[in-house]
Amino acid sequence: MSSSIKNIDLKYSYDKYGNLAEMIIFSITRLLYNVFFIFATLFTKALTEKANLKQLIESPHPHECSPKETYSFSKEILFTKNSLPHLYDKSTSVQKFNNYLENFFASNNSVTRKEWDLALPTSDERQEMKQLINYLYGLYTFNEIQSNAILNSFPKLQKWVNLTFIEGKYCIIHEIIPSGCRFPRFWGYTALCARKYALKPNLHHSASHFESDGDVCNEAATIFESTGSRSLVVAGANRYAVRGDNPSSCQPSYQIADASHNNDPMFFTMNVAVHDAAKQHASKNSLPFNDTFIEWHGMAETSCLSAPIFISAGVHGNHFIYGDKNSTVNRIRDSVNKNFGSTSSAQTPHTDESCKLIASSNVFGRYVNSVPESDVCTIEAKIRDIHSQFVHIEQKHNARCSWDLWVKSINDAFPI
Ligand SMILES: [Zn+2]
Repeated sequence: MSSSIKNIDLKYSYDKYGNLAEMIIFSITRLLYNVFFIFATLFTKALTEKANLKQLIESPHPHECSPKETYSFSKEILFTKNSLPHLYDKSTSVQKFNNYLENFFASNNSVTRKEWDLALPTSDERQEMKQLINYLYGLYTFNEIQSNAILNSFPKLQKWVNLTFIEGKYCIIHEIIPSGCRFPRFWGYTALCARKYALKPNLHHSASHFESDGDVCNEAATIFESTGSRSLVVAGANRYAVRGDNPSSCQPSYQIADASHNNDPMFFTMNVAVHDAAKQHASKNSLPFNDTFIEWHGMAETSCLSAPIFISAGVHGNHFIYGDKNSTVNRIRDSVNKNFGSTSSAQTPHTDESCKLIASSNVFGRYVNSVPESDVCTIEAKIRDIHSQFVHIEQKHNARCSWDLWVKSINDAFPI
């Protein structure tokens, strides 16, 4: 009797606990399967993103100068969270990274007016960008620096911006790499060379006209990097990016996305930030502030017929700066004419009065030449305030694809 009760009890407990055990095993199996599935999906996604990114970076860029310049990554590209690139490869170049970022810039006629207006930086974002650039500008190296740790102090920017470091030498402030095909804010980027590595700590570069001026962003990136200059600012939109006719409220004869003639785009704020950081750095170290800011442009073959290269200080040809053979603008002209030989010659507004591309309305040029930030749209620089610290270079096709000759010319004009 007791034995059969025991058997029933055993059977009962087997049914009860057997089912429970099956349920537990089933649940655990299902859980393990789900976990495995999630990890497998994430792993595949990461591999795909990495492969896509590598392909994008390594593909020959589709720009006008591409046959002359090819770069490739020979080593591993490392990724951190969100698949953002952190480049530790010695063969990585700023030019190559510029080429990659250009994939996400706003092309000709691609943005609605509403999208453009919504993408403009707020005053808080501008303020934080200035503080961020000022902070990074003061660092001796970018070794041991983490993007997230820094951006935690910049809550408005953190949502949109990432810092990519190349070998502790360069820091590139750019929008977070999007999953879609375009950066949402069209802000462009700033690249800084750390103090320890900058061979020309007082030389700065910018390119305001992505795509519409030819391959000038890649050119400026190459010259910045190969000459050991201190900074590079590149605009994130074609000057005709906004569809339709949209005169800028800053300077109505230019379009709204023209970053040389409008102080709304982040390009202007980034340039002002670099300028002010450089000025502050000089003042802190009791040094004279005589930095040079070169803005690189491409012009049509039909413009300025006697000038394959036209170099201006942002003022007409009668200005005294063109009579000073040691002025920055003349040093660059002489260096170009020596290095380019017969392939391209350079003129200034003094030697070619027929060329009107003197950049006197350039908003950042005016700021460099002491016009207050809030007045750059409407007020020209005073003659006495122009000392060739701002240099505006226009180039035709052959010149803007001669990156090596430009590197040589800039090295000659700004000896270490
Ligand atoms: Zn231009």
